[in-house]
Amino acid sequence: MRKFLCLAAGAGIVLGAMGIAACGREEGLARYDIRGEYFPAENKLVAEMDVSVPNPTEGTLEALSFELWANAYREGAKYTPVSELYRSSAYYAGESYGGIEISSVEGAESFQVCGEDENILSVTLKEPLYPGECAALTLSFSTTLAKVDHRLGVGEKNVNLSHFYPVLCSFGENGFCEYVYSSNGDPFVADCANYTLSLTLPAEYRIAHNGVGSSEVSGTKQTLNVTAEGVREISLVLGKELSCVTAEAGEIPVEYWYTSDPAPESTLKAATDALSYFSDTFGDYGYPRYVLVETDFPYGGMEYSGLAMISSALQRADVPAVVAHETAHQWWYGMVGSNQFENAWQDEGLAEYSAALFLGAFPEYGDTYEGAMKRSESGYRAFFSYKSQIAGEADTTMNRPLTAFSGEYEYRNIAYDKGVILFDRLRATVGDRKFFTGLKNYVAAYTGKIASPEELISCFRKAGANVEGLFNSFTDGACVI
Ligand SMILES: [Zn+2]
Repeated sequence: MRKFLCLAAGAGIVLGAMGIAACGREEGLARYDIRGEYFPAENKLVAEMDVSVPNPTEGTLEALSFELWANAYREGAKYTPVSELYRSSAYYAGESYGGIEISSVEGAESFQVCGEDENILSVTLKEPLYPGECAALTLSFSTTLAKVDHRLGVGEKNVNLSHFYPVLCSFGENGFCEYVYSSNGDPFVADCANYTLSLTLPAEYRIAHNGVGSSEVSGTKQTLNVTAEGVREISLVLGKELSCVTAEAGEIPVEYWYTSDPAPESTLKAATDALSYFSDTFGDYGYPRYVLVETDFPYGGMEYSGLAMISSALQRADVPAVVAHETAHQWWYGMVGSNQFENAWQDEGLAEYSAALFLGAFPEYGDTYEGAMKRSESGYRAFFSYKSQIAGEADTTMNRPLTAFSGEYEYRNIAYDKGVILFDRLRATVGDRKFFTGLKNYVAAYTGKIASPEELISCFRKAGANVEGLFNSFTDGACVI
């Protein structure tokens, strides 16, 4: 898929009997080959996954860590995917639980499920993994889906399948980033990887998925085969009532899958307009097609590489802004990665600000740039005044873990609204030319990578705008808005 983003790791990798094979770091993407079957009667997906992991460091590794996001849906989880506020609407059939069980890890010395909330699979390698080598493992697992309208679950109409498999933790400054789930924001930090997926499921499901692929029916079952390269995850939506309309944004095919949207062509047009506008404004779109899916989801929407979900519960008037926000995420987090757990404003602020730019450029969607700014500013000021006057203090720092937010209200105002205000002030300060050159620099330099806030700032510096002080005054909470 993203052929020029991330170089394929496939060539030269031979799965060694000892779980180690040679590979160049410069080729350096992990590769996942997943073969599984979905059993709807049991709400269960059973799979085997070959994964080859290049050593991402200059040193020697003796163990690898994988995130088990699916375990956040299990009974007794400390960090649940849904907050109390959304619990009753998301769990539409009452209490329901899921989880992931790892039955074997071939090619490893040993493995254990650990972490603060059974959220990590730690795999001890048979022998040290030296720089330039790949670890080759085969994991067998079964994932049980809760009945929940969320990123992973059997929803009221569709089955949402993301993070249903162990995902290699990104390697940061302090080793593998082992994050717990959070009902605030998107707690995922994943490096780009190459995937194949072969999934067998009943023939009556229609399937929206990222990457490229097709499904073949045999009797009462079908097998979907997907290839997705240079993506941060593989994600799918299965539905018996899904319909699809298609268009093109330049040369990029755009698909919109829906179940109850009364105006699917108009939603498709918003997705197509947004994809074209952001490609022109920030740099070329990086995947072979763009898939938007209306599905069971408790919040506005959710982004994946080459695919975005929007909630079936959206009000009609909110659709263009949500579609624009999720489409902007194809650039902010999808292509240009950032640490969504520690610095959520970096992709959320930019996605929300990009949506405001889009609404300003396309008045036919019934909104304006100024209107979007006004909503962010008045929302943020109301939050600030509530926190300072009634709660006694307002923590307005922006670089903090998702788990350090008191809840959705604080998270929304800091990561989205204050993020939007930051980018609006930045643009007003440096002018359009340096602002948009800075964002284009950001896309050019960090597509396929994970950029820190300092690296974002450096892209504006390269455009001739020294804005470190402005960024810092927002992120450390010093500036008054
Ligand atoms: Zn977002």
